[in-house]
Amino acid sequence: MKMTDTSKMKKHHRAWILDAHLDLAMNALEWNRDLRQPISEIRKREKGMTDKLDREKGVVSLPALRRGRIGIVVATQIARYVKPGSELPGWNSPHQAWAQTQGQLAWYRAMEEEGEMVQIRNYDELVTHRKLWENQSIDDDDKPIGYILSLEGADSLITLEHLEKSYQDGLRIVGPAHYGPGRYADGTGTTGPLHPQGVRLLRKMDELKMILDITHLTDQGFDQAMDVFGGPVWASHHNSRTLVSGQRQLTDEQIRQLIARGAVIGASFDVWMMVSGWVRGTSNRVKDGAPLERIVDHWDHICDIAGNTDHIAIGSDLDGAYGKEQSPYDLDTIADLQNLQDILRRRGYSESDILKIMHDNGCRFLEKAWK
Ligand SMILES: [Zn+2]
Repeated sequence: MKMTDTSKMKKHHRAWILDAHLDLAMNALEWNRDLRQPISEIRKREKGMTDKLDREKGVVSLPALRRGRIGIVVATQIARYVKPGSELPGWNSPHQAWAQTQGQLAWYRAMEEEGEMVQIRNYDELVTHRKLWENQSIDDDDKPIGYILSLEGADSLITLEHLEKSYQDGLRIVGPAHYGPGRYADGTGTTGPLHPQGVRLLRKMDELKMILDITHLTDQGFDQAMDVFGGPVWASHHNSRTLVSGQRQLTDEQIRQLIARGAVIGASFDVWMMVSGWVRGTSNRVKDGAPLERIVDHWDHICDIAGNTDHIAIGSDLDGAYGKEQSPYDLDTIADLQNLQDILRRRGYSESDILKIMHDNGCRFLEKAWK
C-alpha cells in the first residue's frame, strides 16, 4: 500500500511535456503503424520488414506519449512534391500531395473520434487542455493527447485557397520548406531565396494570423522570411550550428534574431543533429552517438545567447523517419524524455527552468500567438 502511494506521488512529480514536433500521421499512413498500440506491439508487427531503416525500432506511440506525460504535441501533415528525376521520396503532383495530407487529417480525426487525441485550435482550447494535464486527480491513461496541426513543407498546398481550407480544418502552423527543392521554398540541403509563391504564402499566413515555423529554410530563406512575415515565428525542431556543423542547424545570429522575435526553439533528438559526423544508416548509436544529456549542451548554448531560459523547448522529431537506431543511446521510447528532468537538475537548472523547458515556454509562446 505504502509503495503504491509513493510511486503515485513520484509519478505526479514528473512534469508534463509539450513536444513541438512529431510526424504522427505520417507514421500511421506511410509506415502503417497503429499508434494506439504499445510500442512493443508495433515493433512485433514489423518483424522482418526491411522497407524502412527504422523497422522494429519505432519509439513513438500514443500509449508511450501518455506514459511520458507528453500531453500536447504539435503534429504534422507532410507530403512532398517531386519533379521528374528527383532522388527524394515524394508525389508526382501537388494534387497527390494534397490528397496525402487529407488522408493524414482523416487519421487525426479518427483518433479524435476514439478519444485518443483532441485538436487544439485556439487560446481557450489550449488553456483547457493544459489544465487537464495539470489535473492530478485524473489518471494520465484517461487523458487524450492534445495536438496542434502543423504543415511541414508547403508543397501540398495546391493553391493559397488550400491554405485557407486547411486553416478551417485547424491548421495553425506552417513550415514552408522541408528537404530539397520545394514549390514555395527550397529546404535543407539547398541554397537560395524563397520562391515568389513562398512570399505570397507568408503574406497569406500573416492575414490568417498563423505561426511560421522557420525549420528547414535555407539561410537566405530564413532572412527573407523573417523580413516578410510579421506574425509569430518559432523553430519547432532545431539545434545549434556552433555545436553541430551543417546548414540544418541554427547559427548564433539566427538564434539571436529568433529570440528578438520572442521565438521558442524546440530541441531535436535526431542524433545527427545532436553530434557532428553522423552518417545515416552507417554510424553506430552507441559508438558514434550521444546520450540524452547531450541536448543540454544545445540548451546551455541558446540560454547563454538569450541570457535567460525562456526560449528553449522540446521538438523531439523522434518519429521523423528514424527510430531507436538514430536516437540518443539511452532512449528506448519517447517516454524516456521524462529522464531529462533529472539530467537538467544535475546540470544546475532550477525547478522553474525545468517546467519552462518541459512545457511552459511552448505554452506561453502559443498563448501569446493566439490571445
Ligand atoms: Zn523536420
